[in-house]
Amino acid sequence: MRSALKMIAPNVGSVAAEVAYPKGSIVVCHACGVPLYRLVGSIWFSEKTSNTGWKYAPVSMADLQTLMERRDLDPGIRAAIKLWSPERQRQHCERIPMLKNGELPNCPSCAQPFVYALTSQGPEGKSEFTDRAYVLQLATIPPVGKARPLTLVGGRA
Ligand SMILES: [Zn+2]
Repeated sequence: MRSALKMIAPNVGSVAAEVAYPKGSIVVCHACGVPLYRLVGSIWFSEKTSNTGWKYAPVSMADLQTLMERRDLDPGIRAAIKLWSPERQRQHCERIPMLKNGELPNCPSCAQPFVYALTSQGPEGKSEFTDRAYVLQLATIPPVGKARPLTLVGGRA
């Protein structure tokens, strides 16, 4: 009986636990919530932003269409996109700048920064911002099938 119970432990791999934002996530603006980028590579915890610019692909019309059709999302997100005319959607996609490594342009929709960049604290509480070892706080829509909070397994059975 006891061994059978252990077999229903959550199937969380150790690798998955270190991914901050999985490949396929849609990055939305922190300030206004519009979808901006699709991650074409997973972003890992503590990964330096100077290496990750290539992972942000501006969302396409197809990405917006996919978002509107997803049933696992907050209805508010889908409704907001549906309010846009196809022309408005196209304009939005065209205005999203490509990310250069280490650069974070403002949101083309609301002109606010689309991420929060937090300084990471060194062992003595010193800011390491100048080292670019800061942590980006992205607002994202997880890829299909991952739209639920990652369960962190605290204790051992
Ligand atoms: Zn915005």
